[in-house]
Amino acid sequence: MNTSDHVLSDKLQAVQARIAAACAASGRPSDSVRLLAVSKTFSADDVRQVAASGQYDFGENYIQEGVDKITALQGNAHALVWHCIGPIQSNKTKLVAEHFDWAHTVDRLKIAQRLSDQRPAHLPPLNVCLQVNIDGGDTKSGVAPADVLALAQAVASLPRLALRGLMTIPDPVDGFDAQVAVHAKARALFDEVKAALNLPQFDTLSMGMTGDLEAAVSAGSTMVRVGTAIFGGRTYAA
Ligand SMILES: *Cc1c(COP(=O)(O)O)cnc(C)c1O
Repeated sequence: MNTSDHVLSDKLQAVQARIAAACAASGRPSDSVRLLAVSKTFSADDVRQVAASGQYDFGENYIQEGVDKITALQGNAHALVWHCIGPIQSNKTKLVAEHFDWAHTVDRLKIAQRLSDQRPAHLPPLNVCLQVNIDGGDTKSGVAPADVLALAQAVASLPRLALRGLMTIPDPVDGFDAQVAVHAKARALFDEVKAALNLPQFDTLSMGMTGDLEAAVSAGSTMVRVGTAIFGGRTYAA
């Protein structure tokens, strides 16, 4: 190992410790939260180093950048699980369907339909979360909370998708309690949709990032998406 390997594995361990502490603080088992390492803007080599420390779930925002890394890391000793967490335009659904294991940012039926149609037959169904605009920002992606259930019911019927849950990217707010309040709205919506769907695989609430993962875990997140705290600061806005 060189120095940067140590730095990445130390940072990964620090994030795992934050998640474990947050779980303990809410009386949740530490394996009830899955860590998604957000590797956007970082190299395939950086991903390989983090994977060597036992982290296998990675998230990418830019589809072509993600596909390049997926291809570069195909021969990795341990299979990696790739999550698309960036916006998906119609002209990118095929790449997502062919290369990724998860898509967290589905917010329109048209995109879901294309993903299902384009998912290759030799792969298992694509795992999908519906992105919800939980704090109502005007310009934000995500389905409105009032429309989530109808979209979930439609997506659940698509043959080549496995509807797994909801995903949110709330605007940053200051203070633990304010963060929990936003995440708690997502949790309540998740519980409501889950009860209405009666779909056992609907088990994922993807929320919480470097700045608010403790609040997200406290509110019931099952998957936190962490970039900066693992890989360091990014050199372009993302
Ligand atoms: C970049 C990004 C993250 C990670 O953010 P950090 O603050 O670096 O942890 C998580 N989720 C999404 C959707 C992102 O775009």
